[in-house]
Amino acid sequence: MADTIFGKIIAGQIPARKVWDDEQCIAIRDINPQAPTHVLVIPRQPIESTNDITPAQKELIGHLTWVAARIAEQEGIAADGYRLVWNCGKDGGQTVDHIHLHVLGGRPMAWPPG
Ligand code: AMP
Repeated sequence: MADTIFGKIIAGQIPARKVWDDEQCIAIRDINPQAPTHVLVIPRQPIESTNDITPAQKELIGHLTWVAARIAEQEGIAADGYRLVWNCGKDGGQTVDHIHLHVLGGRPMAWPPG
């Protein structure tokens, strides 16, 4: 569990600004926010990347999306819209090998992404 920075946060070994906490996941404010709201929804299970999601974990992934929508409500960005992002691997820009769903909002998002 403590293999990545997110494992350490889940284990309570390093602090984070938590905005959600349940039996399946936590959500924390990103330390280097890319938008006025930038929250990471992180499963307690240390899945390395979206490539590694198993059939048994499909319900968990749905839960994380549901939590992301609750975070958007909490943050007051649900009506105007927001972006949910899973970065995967080198080309996807993934830097922490424990899957996490980015919730970005509070400003218009550009497309295509960089
Ligand atoms: P990714 O590049 O998709 O793997 O996203 C990793 C994210 O984790 C980046 O947006 C980082 O700013 C963020 N991050 C790294 N360390 C921490 C931390 N200790 N607390 C909160 N966010 C972090």
